[in-house]
Amino acid sequence: MSRDLDIEHSIVQTLRDGKTSEHLKRVQLENQIVPHNFKVPMPRPQTCKLQGCMAQFEIILVPRQIIYPKYCPDHRNDHQREVFLSRLDHDLIT
Ligand SMILES: [Zn+2]
Repeated sequence: MSRDLDIEHSIVQTLRDGKTSEHLKRVQLENQIVPHNFKVPMPRPQTCKLQGCMAQFEIILVPRQIIYPKYCPDHRNDHQREVFLSRLDHDLIT
């Protein structure tokens, strides 16, 4: 848990400095940065950011946390996304 907070902290620092970093880029591969000032957990509907996937899912904005998944639960790992995209390609061709 403290490690998560460290990651969070370093990301916030990077953004605050207006910089980018390899670490930030890595985080953004699978996550979105959602700055907010909510003091209580706040549900927010999202659409999966994977091209061609319109799945709706919900993230809960938690105080002091700005890193959230950008893909629906079905597409949270590389492999699932590759399979989905290759099917999409296939559908477009045929
Ligand atoms: Zn998806």
